[in-house]
Amino acid sequence: MIGISILGSTGSIGKSTLDVLARHPDRYQVVALSANSDVDGMYRQCLAHRPQLVAMADEASAEALASLLADEAGEIHVLSGIAGLKAVATHESAEQVMAAIVGAAGLVPVLAAVEAGKRILLANKEALVVAGGLFMDAVRRHGVTVLPIDSEHNAVFQCMPEGYEQGLDGKGVRRILLTASGGPFRTTPAQELATVTPEQACAHPNWDMGRKISVDSATMMNKGLEVIEAHWLFGAAPEHIQVVIHPQSVIHSMVEYVDGSVLAQLGNPDMRTPIAHALAWPERIDSGVASLDLFSVARLDFEKPDLERFPCLRLAFRAIEEGGSMPAILNAANEVAVAAFLDGRSGFMDIPRVIEQTMDSLRGQPADSLKVLLEADALARETAERLLTPKVT
Ligand code: NAD
Ligand code: MG
Repeated sequence: MIGISILGSTGSIGKSTLDVLARHPDRYQVVALSANSDVDGMYRQCLAHRPQLVAMADEASAEALASLLADEAGEIHVLSGIAGLKAVATHESAEQVMAAIVGAAGLVPVLAAVEAGKRILLANKEALVVAGGLFMDAVRRHGVTVLPIDSEHNAVFQCMPEGYEQGLDGKGVRRILLTASGGPFRTTPAQELATVTPEQACAHPNWDMGRKISVDSATMMNKGLEVIEAHWLFGAAPEHIQVVIHPQSVIHSMVEYVDGSVLAQLGNPDMRTPIAHALAWPERIDSGVASLDLFSVARLDFEKPDLERFPCLRLAFRAIEEGGSMPAILNAANEVAVAAFLDGRSGFMDIPRVIEQTMDSLRGQPADSLKVLLEADALARETAERLLTPKVT
Protein backbone atom coordinates (compact mmCIF):
# COMPACT_ATOMS: atom_id res chain seq x y z
CA MET A 1 0.00 0.00 0.00
CA ILE A 2 1.22 3.49 -0.86
CA GLY A 3 0.42 6.08 1.84
CA ILE A 4 -0.81 9.47 0.60
CA SER A 5 -1.17 12.82 2.40
CA ILE A 6 -3.23 15.57 0.78
CA LEU A 7 -2.67 19.24 1.60
CA GLY A 8 -5.85 21.07 0.56
CA SER A 9 -8.07 17.98 0.30
CA THR A 10 -11.40 19.87 0.31
CA GLY A 11 -10.53 21.88 -2.81
CA SER A 12 -11.03 21.10 -6.48
CA ILE A 13 -7.69 19.26 -6.88
CA GLY A 14 -8.03 17.61 -3.46
CA LYS A 15 -11.45 16.16 -4.34
CA SER A 16 -10.27 14.97 -7.76
CA THR A 17 -7.32 13.27 -6.05
CA LEU A 18 -9.63 11.44 -3.62
CA ASP A 19 -11.81 10.42 -6.58
CA VAL A 20 -8.80 8.77 -8.30
CA LEU A 21 -7.59 7.17 -5.04
CA ALA A 22 -11.04 5.69 -4.35
CA ARG A 23 -10.76 3.79 -7.66
CA HIS A 24 -7.66 1.98 -6.35
CA PRO A 25 -8.29 0.99 -2.72
CA ASP A 26 -5.88 -1.97 -3.04
CA ARG A 27 -3.02 0.30 -4.06
CA TYR A 28 -3.33 3.54 -2.05
CA GLN A 29 -4.16 4.46 1.51
CA VAL A 30 -5.13 8.00 2.55
CA VAL A 31 -3.11 8.69 5.71
CA ALA A 32 -3.53 12.43 6.30
CA LEU A 33 -5.69 15.30 5.02
CA SER A 34 -5.68 19.08 5.52
CA ALA A 35 -7.93 22.04 4.74
CA ASN A 36 -8.41 25.63 5.82
CA SER A 37 -11.93 25.98 7.29
CA ASP A 38 -14.36 23.67 5.44
CA VAL A 39 -15.39 21.62 8.49
CA ASP A 40 -18.35 19.84 6.86
CA GLY A 41 -16.34 18.93 3.76
CA MET A 42 -13.52 17.57 5.88
CA TYR A 43 -15.88 15.64 8.15
CA ARG A 44 -17.38 13.86 5.12
CA GLN A 45 -13.88 13.07 3.80
CA CYS A 46 -12.89 11.66 7.19
CA LEU A 47 -15.85 9.28 7.21
CA ALA A 48 -15.24 8.18 3.62
CA HIS A 49 -11.43 7.84 3.67
CA ARG A 50 -10.54 7.20 7.33
CA PRO A 51 -7.22 9.13 7.52
CA GLN A 52 -5.09 8.78 10.68
CA LEU A 53 -4.52 12.54 10.89
CA VAL A 54 -6.34 15.69 9.75
CA ALA A 55 -5.34 19.32 10.13
CA MET A 56 -7.42 22.46 9.77
CA ALA A 57 -5.34 25.63 9.29
CA ASP A 58 -8.04 27.59 11.12
CA GLU A 59 -8.05 26.91 14.90
CA ALA A 60 -11.82 27.26 15.43
CA SER A 61 -12.47 24.90 12.48
CA ALA A 62 -10.12 22.33 14.02
CA GLU A 63 -12.09 22.47 17.30
CA ALA A 64 -15.40 22.12 15.47
CA LEU A 65 -14.07 19.12 13.50
CA ALA A 66 -12.68 17.48 16.63
CA SER A 67 -16.07 17.64 18.31
CA LEU A 68 -17.80 16.18 15.22
CA LEU A 69 -15.25 13.35 15.25
CA ALA A 70 -15.59 12.72 19.01
CA ASP A 71 -17.43 9.43 18.33
CA GLU A 72 -14.48 8.10 16.34
CA ALA A 73 -12.82 7.29 19.70
CA GLY A 74 -9.60 9.13 18.90
CA GLU A 75 -8.93 7.09 15.74
CA ILE A 76 -8.69 10.27 13.68
CA HIS A 77 -6.29 12.72 15.23
CA VAL A 78 -7.10 16.44 14.65
CA LEU A 79 -4.45 19.19 14.63
CA SER A 80 -4.52 22.87 13.69
CA GLY A 81 -2.47 25.76 12.34
CA ILE A 82 0.83 25.61 10.50
CA ALA A 83 2.12 22.88 12.84
CA GLY A 84 -0.87 20.74 11.84
CA LEU A 85 -0.25 21.33 8.12
CA LYS A 86 3.42 20.37 8.56
CA ALA A 87 2.41 17.21 10.45
CA VAL A 88 0.18 16.22 7.49
CA ALA A 89 3.01 17.00 5.05
CA THR A 90 5.54 14.88 6.95
CA HIS A 91 3.37 12.00 8.26
CA GLU A 92 5.61 8.94 8.61
CA SER A 93 3.20 6.65 6.73
CA ALA A 94 2.94 8.98 3.71
CA GLU A 95 5.21 8.20 0.77
CA GLN A 96 3.60 10.80 -1.46
CA VAL A 97 2.24 14.26 -0.66
CA MET A 98 -0.30 15.98 -2.89
CA ALA A 99 0.38 19.73 -2.51
CA ALA A 100 -3.01 21.27 -3.40
CA ILE A 101 -3.32 24.28 -1.08
CA VAL A 102 -4.08 27.44 -3.07
CA GLY A 103 -1.68 30.37 -2.86
CA ALA A 104 1.55 31.17 -1.03
CA ALA A 105 0.00 29.59 2.11
CA GLY A 106 1.05 26.24 0.63
CA LEU A 107 4.76 27.04 0.53
CA VAL A 108 5.86 26.22 4.09
CA PRO A 109 3.95 22.88 4.27
CA VAL A 110 5.23 21.68 0.89
CA LEU A 111 8.81 22.59 1.84
CA ALA A 112 8.36 20.48 4.98
CA ALA A 113 7.31 17.56 2.77
CA VAL A 114 10.42 18.03 0.59
CA GLU A 115 12.65 18.11 3.68
CA ALA A 116 10.99 14.90 4.93
CA GLY A 117 11.96 13.20 1.62
CA LYS A 118 8.40 12.67 0.35
CA ARG A 119 7.52 12.30 -3.33
CA ILE A 120 5.83 15.61 -4.19
CA LEU A 121 2.77 15.84 -6.42
CA LEU A 122 2.78 19.58 -7.02
CA ALA A 123 -0.45 21.43 -7.85
CA ASN A 124 0.33 24.49 -5.71
CA LYS A 125 2.09 26.54 -8.42
CA GLU A 126 2.29 29.64 -6.19
CA ALA A 127 4.89 27.83 -4.02
CA LEU A 128 7.23 27.70 -7.03
CA VAL A 129 6.43 31.26 -8.06
CA VAL A 130 7.29 32.59 -4.60
CA ALA A 131 10.36 30.44 -3.90
CA GLY A 132 11.26 28.44 -7.03
CA GLY A 133 15.02 28.64 -6.52
CA LEU A 134 14.94 27.61 -2.86
CA PHE A 135 12.34 24.93 -3.57
CA MET A 136 14.35 23.31 -6.38
CA ASP A 137 17.57 23.49 -4.28
CA ALA A 138 15.77 21.65 -1.47
CA VAL A 139 14.43 19.09 -3.98
CA ARG A 140 17.99 18.35 -5.19
CA ARG A 141 19.45 18.33 -1.67
CA HIS A 142 16.89 15.83 -0.41
CA GLY A 143 16.84 13.79 -3.64
CA VAL A 144 13.05 13.89 -3.92
CA THR A 145 10.95 13.43 -7.07
CA VAL A 146 8.56 16.24 -8.04
CA LEU A 147 5.70 15.32 -10.35
CA PRO A 148 3.78 18.29 -11.75
CA ILE A 149 -0.01 18.22 -11.45
CA ASP A 150 -0.69 21.45 -13.35
CA SER A 151 -1.96 19.97 -16.63
CA GLU A 152 0.50 21.93 -18.80
CA HIS A 153 3.53 20.99 -16.72
CA ASN A 154 2.39 17.41 -16.44
CA ALA A 155 2.15 17.38 -20.26
CA VAL A 156 5.63 18.90 -20.60
CA PHE A 157 6.98 16.34 -18.09
CA GLN A 158 5.53 13.55 -20.23
CA CYS A 159 7.21 15.00 -23.37
CA MET A 160 10.62 15.85 -21.81
CA PRO A 161 13.76 13.82 -22.55
CA GLU A 162 15.14 11.52 -19.86
CA GLY A 163 17.52 13.23 -17.45
CA TYR A 164 16.12 16.74 -18.01
CA GLU A 165 16.43 17.33 -14.24
CA GLN A 166 20.23 17.56 -14.67
CA GLY A 167 19.76 20.52 -17.06
CA LEU A 168 18.48 20.97 -20.61
CA ASP A 169 21.94 21.53 -22.16
CA GLY A 170 22.69 18.87 -24.75
CA LYS A 171 19.22 17.36 -24.48
CA GLY A 172 18.04 18.77 -27.83
CA VAL A 173 15.11 20.75 -26.44
CA ARG A 174 14.45 23.95 -28.41
CA ARG A 175 11.45 25.33 -26.53
CA ILE A 176 8.42 24.60 -24.41
CA LEU A 177 5.03 25.45 -25.94
CA LEU A 178 2.72 26.15 -23.02
CA THR A 179 -0.91 26.03 -24.10
CA ALA A 180 -3.61 28.29 -22.62
CA SER A 181 -7.36 28.17 -23.16
CA GLY A 182 -7.54 31.98 -23.16
CA GLY A 183 -10.14 31.81 -20.38
CA PRO A 184 -13.73 33.11 -20.42
CA PHE A 185 -12.73 36.53 -21.84
CA ARG A 186 -10.57 35.33 -24.74
CA THR A 187 -12.71 37.24 -27.25
CA THR A 188 -14.14 39.96 -24.94
CA PRO A 189 -13.36 43.50 -26.19
CA ALA A 190 -11.00 45.53 -23.95
CA GLN A 191 -13.62 48.15 -23.03
CA GLU A 192 -15.96 45.47 -21.63
CA LEU A 193 -13.35 43.92 -19.31
CA ALA A 194 -13.61 46.69 -16.69
CA THR A 195 -17.19 45.72 -15.81
CA VAL A 196 -17.10 41.89 -15.81
CA THR A 197 -18.36 40.19 -12.63
CA PRO A 198 -16.78 37.45 -10.47
CA GLU A 199 -19.45 35.01 -11.73
CA GLN A 200 -18.50 35.70 -15.35
CA ALA A 201 -14.80 35.40 -14.50
CA CYS A 202 -15.31 32.05 -12.72
CA ALA A 203 -17.30 30.53 -15.60
CA HIS A 204 -14.34 28.87 -17.29
CA PRO A 205 -15.15 27.38 -20.71
CA ASN A 206 -13.20 24.11 -20.25
CA TRP A 207 -12.17 23.52 -16.62
CA ASP A 208 -14.02 23.41 -13.29
CA MET A 209 -11.58 24.85 -10.72
CA GLY A 210 -11.29 26.78 -7.45
CA ARG A 211 -12.30 30.45 -7.59
CA LYS A 212 -8.82 31.95 -7.27
CA ILE A 213 -7.33 29.98 -10.17
CA SER A 214 -10.50 30.63 -12.20
CA VAL A 215 -9.95 34.40 -11.90
CA ASP A 216 -6.25 33.87 -12.68
CA SER A 217 -7.31 32.09 -15.88
CA ALA A 218 -9.60 34.98 -16.76
CA THR A 219 -6.80 37.59 -16.33
CA MET A 220 -4.27 35.13 -17.84
CA MET A 221 -2.14 35.58 -14.71
CA ASN A 222 -2.54 31.82 -14.43
CA LYS A 223 -0.45 31.42 -17.59
CA GLY A 224 2.05 33.95 -16.26
CA LEU A 225 2.42 31.97 -13.03
CA GLU A 226 2.78 28.84 -15.16
CA VAL A 227 5.62 30.36 -17.19
CA ILE A 228 7.47 30.96 -13.91
CA GLU A 229 6.55 27.44 -12.75
CA ALA A 230 7.90 25.92 -16.01
CA HIS A 231 11.09 27.98 -15.68
CA TRP A 232 11.85 26.40 -12.30
CA LEU A 233 10.57 22.87 -12.93
CA PHE A 234 12.34 22.37 -16.25
CA GLY A 235 15.29 24.76 -16.00
CA ALA A 236 14.03 26.64 -19.08
CA ALA A 237 14.85 30.30 -19.73
CA PRO A 238 11.71 32.47 -20.14
CA GLU A 239 12.63 33.17 -23.79
CA HIS A 240 12.43 29.42 -24.46
CA ILE A 241 8.84 29.27 -23.19
CA GLN A 242 6.17 30.23 -25.74
CA VAL A 243 2.56 30.72 -24.65
CA VAL A 244 0.09 29.44 -27.26
CA ILE A 245 -3.65 30.10 -26.99
CA HIS A 246 -5.48 26.86 -27.78
CA PRO A 247 -9.20 27.32 -27.00
CA GLN A 248 -10.16 23.62 -27.04
CA SER A 249 -7.76 22.68 -24.17
CA VAL A 250 -7.12 19.27 -25.73
CA ILE A 251 -3.36 19.65 -26.23
CA HIS A 252 -2.12 20.25 -22.68
CA SER A 253 1.33 21.50 -23.79
CA MET A 254 4.23 20.59 -26.10
CA VAL A 255 8.01 20.28 -26.23
CA GLU A 256 9.84 21.19 -29.42
CA TYR A 257 13.22 19.58 -30.21
CA VAL A 258 16.09 20.88 -32.36
CA ASP A 259 15.33 18.34 -35.10
CA GLY A 260 11.89 19.94 -35.57
CA SER A 261 9.94 17.26 -33.67
CA VAL A 262 7.14 18.63 -31.51
CA LEU A 263 5.84 16.22 -28.86
CA ALA A 264 2.41 16.94 -27.38
CA GLN A 265 0.25 15.35 -24.69
CA LEU A 266 -3.48 15.32 -25.43
CA GLY A 267 -6.57 14.36 -23.48
CA ASN A 268 -9.92 15.56 -22.23
CA PRO A 269 -9.63 18.59 -19.93
CA ASP A 270 -10.03 16.70 -16.63
CA MET A 271 -7.45 17.07 -13.84
CA ARG A 272 -7.83 13.40 -12.91
CA THR A 273 -5.50 12.54 -15.84
CA PRO A 274 -2.43 14.42 -14.53
CA ILE A 275 -3.34 13.39 -10.96
CA ALA A 276 -3.47 9.67 -11.88
CA HIS A 277 -0.29 10.03 -13.96
CA ALA A 278 1.62 11.51 -11.03
CA LEU A 279 0.19 9.08 -8.44
CA ALA A 280 1.23 6.01 -10.42
CA TRP A 281 4.36 7.25 -12.25
CA PRO A 282 6.16 5.51 -13.87
CA GLU A 283 3.21 3.14 -14.12
CA ARG A 284 -0.26 4.02 -15.44
CA ILE A 285 -3.60 3.60 -13.68
CA ASP A 286 -7.23 4.24 -14.59
CA SER A 287 -8.30 7.82 -13.75
CA GLY A 288 -12.01 7.64 -14.57
CA VAL A 289 -11.48 10.09 -17.47
CA ALA A 290 -13.39 9.31 -20.67
CA SER A 291 -11.56 8.48 -23.91
CA LEU A 292 -10.70 11.48 -26.05
CA ASP A 293 -13.19 11.60 -28.93
CA LEU A 294 -11.23 13.33 -31.69
CA PHE A 295 -14.23 13.25 -34.01
CA SER A 296 -16.27 15.40 -31.65
CA VAL A 297 -13.26 17.67 -30.95
CA ALA A 298 -13.00 17.96 -34.77
CA ARG A 299 -10.47 20.82 -34.84
CA LEU A 300 -7.60 22.31 -32.89
CA ASP A 301 -7.04 26.09 -33.08
CA PHE A 302 -4.05 28.21 -32.06
CA GLU A 303 -3.67 31.97 -31.47
CA LYS A 304 -1.05 34.39 -30.17
CA PRO A 305 -1.73 35.82 -26.69
CA ASP A 306 -2.90 39.46 -26.58
CA LEU A 307 -0.69 41.27 -24.04
CA GLU A 308 -2.71 44.49 -24.37
CA ARG A 309 -5.95 43.00 -23.06
CA PHE A 310 -4.15 40.62 -20.70
CA PRO A 311 -1.33 42.67 -19.09
CA CYS A 312 -0.89 40.09 -16.29
CA LEU A 313 1.00 37.84 -18.68
CA ARG A 314 3.44 40.66 -19.47
CA LEU A 315 3.85 41.38 -15.72
CA ALA A 316 4.75 37.74 -15.01
CA PHE A 317 7.50 37.82 -17.68
CA ARG A 318 8.75 41.08 -16.14
CA ALA A 319 8.82 39.50 -12.66
CA ILE A 320 10.87 36.49 -13.75
CA GLU A 321 13.29 38.71 -15.67
CA GLU A 322 13.78 40.98 -12.63
CA GLY A 323 14.17 37.82 -10.54
CA GLY A 324 14.95 37.67 -6.80
CA SER A 325 11.86 38.36 -4.72
CA MET A 326 9.94 40.06 -7.59
CA PRO A 327 7.91 36.93 -8.50
CA ALA A 328 6.90 36.70 -4.79
CA ILE A 329 5.81 40.35 -4.95
CA LEU A 330 3.83 39.70 -8.15
CA ASN A 331 2.15 36.67 -6.59
CA ALA A 332 1.22 38.39 -3.33
CA ALA A 333 -0.21 41.46 -5.09
CA ASN A 334 -2.19 39.13 -7.35
CA GLU A 335 -3.61 37.17 -4.39
CA VAL A 336 -4.75 40.41 -2.72
CA ALA A 337 -6.23 41.89 -5.91
CA VAL A 338 -8.05 38.66 -6.85
CA ALA A 339 -9.52 38.32 -3.34
CA ALA A 340 -10.75 41.93 -3.51
CA PHE A 341 -12.32 41.31 -6.93
CA LEU A 342 -14.03 38.13 -5.69
CA ASP A 343 -15.35 40.04 -2.64
CA GLY A 344 -16.79 42.75 -4.89
CA ARG A 345 -14.38 45.34 -3.44
CA SER A 346 -12.70 46.16 -6.78
CA GLY A 347 -12.98 45.71 -10.52
CA PHE A 348 -11.43 43.15 -12.86
CA MET A 349 -8.96 45.61 -14.42
CA ASP A 350 -7.85 46.72 -10.94
CA ILE A 351 -6.08 43.36 -10.77
CA PRO A 352 -3.31 44.17 -13.30
CA ARG A 353 -3.23 47.82 -12.13
CA VAL A 354 -2.61 46.92 -8.48
CA ILE A 355 0.00 44.28 -9.39
CA GLU A 356 1.94 46.63 -11.65
CA GLN A 357 1.85 49.49 -9.14
CA THR A 358 2.96 47.15 -6.35
CA MET A 359 5.87 45.93 -8.49
CA ASP A 360 6.78 49.55 -9.36
CA SER A 361 6.80 50.65 -5.74
CA LEU A 362 8.84 47.79 -4.23
CA ARG A 363 12.40 46.67 -4.92
CA GLY A 364 13.18 43.02 -5.47
CA GLN A 365 15.77 41.50 -3.11
CA PRO A 366 18.05 38.51 -3.77
CA ALA A 367 15.92 35.43 -3.03
CA ASP A 368 18.49 33.76 -0.80
CA SER A 369 16.35 32.83 2.17
CA LEU A 370 12.77 31.92 2.98
CA LYS A 371 12.74 34.84 5.42
CA VAL A 372 13.45 37.37 2.65
CA LEU A 373 10.70 35.88 0.48
CA LEU A 374 8.09 35.76 3.24
CA GLU A 375 8.90 39.39 4.13
CA ALA A 376 8.55 40.40 0.46
CA ASP A 377 5.21 38.56 0.37
CA ALA A 378 3.95 40.38 3.49
CA LEU A 379 5.12 43.82 2.32
CA ALA A 380 3.58 43.30 -1.14
CA ARG A 381 0.25 42.33 0.48
CA GLU A 382 0.22 45.53 2.55
CA THR A 383 1.19 47.64 -0.45
CA ALA A 384 -1.42 46.05 -2.72
CA GLU A 385 -4.17 46.53 -0.10
CA ARG A 386 -3.28 50.22 0.06
CA LEU A 387 -3.26 50.55 -3.74
CA LEU A 388 -6.68 48.94 -4.04
CA THR A 389 -8.33 52.03 -2.63
CA PRO A 390 -7.36 55.07 -4.70
CA LYS A 391 -6.06 57.98 -2.57
CA VAL A 392 -8.65 60.59 -1.61
CA THR A 393 -7.11 64.03 -2.29
P1 NAD B 1 -9.47 25.37 -4.13
O1 NAD B 1 -9.71 26.76 -3.70
O2 NAD B 1 -10.58 24.59 -4.74
O3 NAD B 1 -8.91 24.52 -2.88
C1 NAD B 1 -7.88 25.00 -2.07
C2 NAD B 1 -7.61 24.08 -0.89
O4 NAD B 1 -6.60 24.70 -0.05
C3 NAD B 1 -8.83 23.84 0.02
O5 NAD B 1 -8.77 22.54 0.56
C4 NAD B 1 -8.64 24.88 1.14
O6 NAD B 1 -9.24 24.48 2.36
C5 NAD B 1 -7.12 24.90 1.27
N1 NAD B 1 -6.63 26.19 1.74
C6 NAD B 1 -6.96 27.42 1.28
N2 NAD B 1 -6.31 28.39 1.95
C7 NAD B 1 -5.56 27.75 2.89
C8 NAD B 1 -4.68 28.21 3.90
N3 NAD B 1 -4.45 29.52 4.12
N4 NAD B 1 -4.06 27.28 4.67
C9 NAD B 1 -4.30 25.96 4.48
N5 NAD B 1 -5.12 25.47 3.54
C10 NAD B 1 -5.74 26.36 2.75
O7 NAD B 1 -8.21 25.41 -5.12
P2 NAD B 1 -7.86 24.41 -6.32
O8 NAD B 1 -8.53 24.87 -7.55
O9 NAD B 1 -7.99 22.99 -5.89
O10 NAD B 1 -6.31 24.75 -6.53
C11 NAD B 1 -5.31 24.27 -5.64
C12 NAD B 1 -3.95 24.54 -6.25
O11 NAD B 1 -3.82 23.76 -7.45
C13 NAD B 1 -3.74 26.00 -6.67
O12 NAD B 1 -2.40 26.36 -6.44
C14 NAD B 1 -4.02 25.99 -8.16
O13 NAD B 1 -3.32 26.98 -8.86
C15 NAD B 1 -3.53 24.60 -8.55
N6 NAD B 1 -4.17 24.05 -9.75
C16 NAD B 1 -5.52 23.82 -9.75
C17 NAD B 1 -6.13 23.32 -10.89
C18 NAD B 1 -7.61 23.00 -10.91
O14 NAD B 1 -8.10 22.46 -11.89
N7 NAD B 1 -8.36 23.30 -9.88
C19 NAD B 1 -5.37 23.08 -12.04
C20 NAD B 1 -4.00 23.32 -12.00
C21 NAD B 1 -3.41 23.81 -10.85
MG1 MG C 1 -2.62 24.83 -15.68
